[in-house]
Amino acid sequence: MIDKGLRPSPISPTVDFSAEGVQHGFLRLPYSRDDSAWGSVMVPITVVKNGEGPTALLTGGNHGDEYEGPIALFDLARTLKAADVSGRVIVVPAMNYPAFAAGTRTSPIDRGNMNRSFPGKPDGTVTEKIADYFQRELLPLADIVLDFHSGGKTLDFLPFCAAHILPDKRQEARAFELVDAFSAPYSMKMLEIDAVGMYDTAAEEMGKVFITTELGGGGTATAKSAGIAKRGVINVLRQAGIVAGKADTVPTQWLDMPDGNCFSFAEEGGLIEPLVDMGETVVAGQVVARIYPIGRSGALTSEVSAKMDGVLCARHFPGLVKPGDCVAVLARAV
Ligand SMILES: [Zn+2]
Repeated sequence: MIDKGLRPSPISPTVDFSAEGVQHGFLRLPYSRDDSAWGSVMVPITVVKNGEGPTALLTGGNHGDEYEGPIALFDLARTLKAADVSGRVIVVPAMNYPAFAAGTRTSPIDRGNMNRSFPGKPDGTVTEKIADYFQRELLPLADIVLDFHSGGKTLDFLPFCAAHILPDKRQEARAFELVDAFSAPYSMKMLEIDAVGMYDTAAEEMGKVFITTELGGGGTATAKSAGIAKRGVINVLRQAGIVAGKADTVPTQWLDMPDGNCFSFAEEGGLIEPLVDMGETVVAGQVVARIYPIGRSGALTSEVSAKMDGVLCARHFPGLVKPGDCVAVLARAV
């Protein structure tokens, strides 16, 4: 499936997407470097196919320091049997594999942020080449797309599954049905700070039913957050009719991010004192964090305030903050 004028992808899959059964393999991308002249980046991939039916494309590790997705998907890859499936499940637990292997958000090879690299380039950087393969080869195979995220080392989130408000209301409704089936403790109608270059946008523009998550953060996972991811992915496959059985749902609190007032950013750097914890309700104007300059004692502090009424759904994670960092994200209970 090659667009005119673009060269073919340099990635060769070691799996056959049309073959029946379970295959574990790699997306192999040639990457010549000092320690391996004819070396490759090997992105793990599992394909489970059984007869006719829809295709789900499941990805984790779009950002390399977010762990619930990779845990759920490495687990699914080792346990899902062909007999469990009607249709096809494509599992890529660590989409930006070099970033995942290094435990960093972006790739150590080219500093590429996978979720700002779409549609990618077949003759670009390593990250752009992987994005291009998803754009031109994997997304066209998919009916539904689930891309797992969490906060990574610098953010922490209330656990939610999310979809975007879309111009195509039918596509939007199908996405929100899957969010509901995922059954995270929270479900979000999500607004992006910066949607250009996102995998989300690429999938949605192709008409795919796309959902995503934010399931925790701080560069680690917990038993609870990993459990939410594992239950969610099976629920989504059941809702899509790819795995038999009814979704195992629990009550979810719907949240909505109405506009840019959701986000509060630091204007000074320093030591951050949280004044509100995750899941707590705040009102517009309320101070949510205090920042202490760290160069001297007794100096004036600065304050970060909420710009709307809402629930604290994400916060800056490390103890020190820099000017421009996102300190708090609020959402409105629906
Ligand atoms: Zn992410």
